[in-house]
Amino acid sequence: MSLDKNIIATLRQRGYRITPQREMVIETIAHSETHLSAEEIFAEIEKRTKASNLATVYRTLDLLWREGFARRNDLSEGKTVYVAHSHGPHIHLICRRCDEVIEADLDALAALKDELSIKYDFDADLEHLSIFGCCANCTDPSVN
Ligand SMILES: [Zn+2]
Ligand SMILES: [Zn+2]
Repeated sequence: MSLDKNIIATLRQRGYRITPQREMVIETIAHSETHLSAEEIFAEIEKRTKASNLATVYRTLDLLWREGFARRNDLSEGKTVYVAHSHGPHIHLICRRCDEVIEADLDALAALKDELSIKYDFDADLEHLSIFGCCANCTDPSVN
């Protein structure tokens, strides 16, 4: 079974009503290699149906996030993007000067996760964390 069919079947099992528009949101995110905003997904769906609306796209993405099928991230300037959970765990390093986004692996955070667990008894969800800073291109020693 393909990823989108799998997600739809699982959501139905969990008691959610999956409308054709919701199906299109799920198909779009399941087939995307990159992160997409609600507006970008809406633009894709609008090509296929006139019956779409942005509020439904937002609600469907929120459902996918809560049910564990999508990762969510607030990149900057309030821009929220989504990617299928199957994209794999990663973190975003975001340059505050040029908005460059680097996808990094989670290894660097293993020690932090342990530390937070020991110190605060808190199981931190560090998958898909955003860390702001300055990229190599923007590092200008004369500015500091
Ligand atoms: Zn930069
Ligand atoms: Zn991401």
